[in-house]
Amino acid sequence: MHVLITGGTGFIGSSLVPALMAQGHNATVLSRNPAASIAGAETVTSLAAIGDEARIDAIINLAGASLADKRWSITYKRQIVDSRIDTTRAIGELVTRLQHKPTTLISGSAIGYYGACGDEPLDETSAAGEGFAAVLCQDWEAAGSAISDVERTVLLRLGVVLDSGGGALTEMARPFRIGVANYIGSGHQFLSWIHREDVVAAIIYALENPSISGPVNLTAPHPVTSLGFCAAMKKRTRTMITLPMPSAVMRLMVGEMADELLSVGQRVLPAKLQSEGFQFRYPHIDAALEASL
Ligand code: NDP
Repeated sequence: MHVLITGGTGFIGSSLVPALMAQGHNATVLSRNPAASIAGAETVTSLAAIGDEARIDAIINLAGASLADKRWSITYKRQIVDSRIDTTRAIGELVTRLQHKPTTLISGSAIGYYGACGDEPLDETSAAGEGFAAVLCQDWEAAGSAISDVERTVLLRLGVVLDSGGGALTEMARPFRIGVANYIGSGHQFLSWIHREDVVAAIIYALENPSISGPVNLTAPHPVTSLGFCAAMKKRTRTMITLPMPSAVMRLMVGEMADELLSVGQRVLPAKLQSEGFQFRYPHIDAALEASL
């Protein structure tokens, strides 16, 4: 298949694109950076550069300004929203004018969709939540679903993606590396994580299995509490003291993002992937951290 990937230069995309090509697919990557290059993939800096006659079989849409890089000022929130919605709408315009329509759109979202639900186990049928991240995910999914010229749309509700070399784990591991184990708030809130290799494998699985459509939770089958994550990290790092990070301090440090992404847990289960027979390489946190640290 010829696959167009937006966000193909990012933490997930930079693993996904080589994996797609290793499976025999051709890749075109949309990047704002003209110098961006992923070996073997074509790069475009604008979807307008793709001709009407191009043959694109599937689109994977991951582009968006990071939710974790900066404090959520009003201006930055606008950038977070616009970067996703505008890119998704531009994909819609591309699909409309392509003579050969892609069959499959795999478009981003996140478990933030569900909002704060305490310990309640959440699957793809669970209700949408409230708050900035929840509304962002709902709007991003709606923009993807509005692209009606494709045969199949998959909405990736991504959990916290763990691996070496970037992403959330680099930040989460920082205190452990200086000998301080740390957990947020009460420590009992759930962290719904997934290893990057499983994200890549699950996206390719969704691409190649026409029976998969609609929302798909990309989380490992065994979410852990913040305390459980702390315990698993302690096994892999030389930590001497354990310190709770009060939610109020977290809020002072990173602002509103603390309340929505860090202090409030979500217990999300990959019901659809499991019912479709997807096998996780890293279902448990210990093995995922062993492979990542
Ligand atoms: P990254 O931040 O690593 O990469 C995102 C990509 O989006 C970048 O490579 C960049 O491509 C592009 N991008 C960044 N800012 C903008 C912008 N303002 N306008 C247009 N494009 C932009 O993200 P990940 O690979 O970690 O994640 C991919 C998607 O999955 C993201 O949308 C993210 O929100 C979502 N997600 C990720 C999770 C995770 O734990 N990693 C968890 C939940 C959701 P370039 O610079 O080449 O243009």
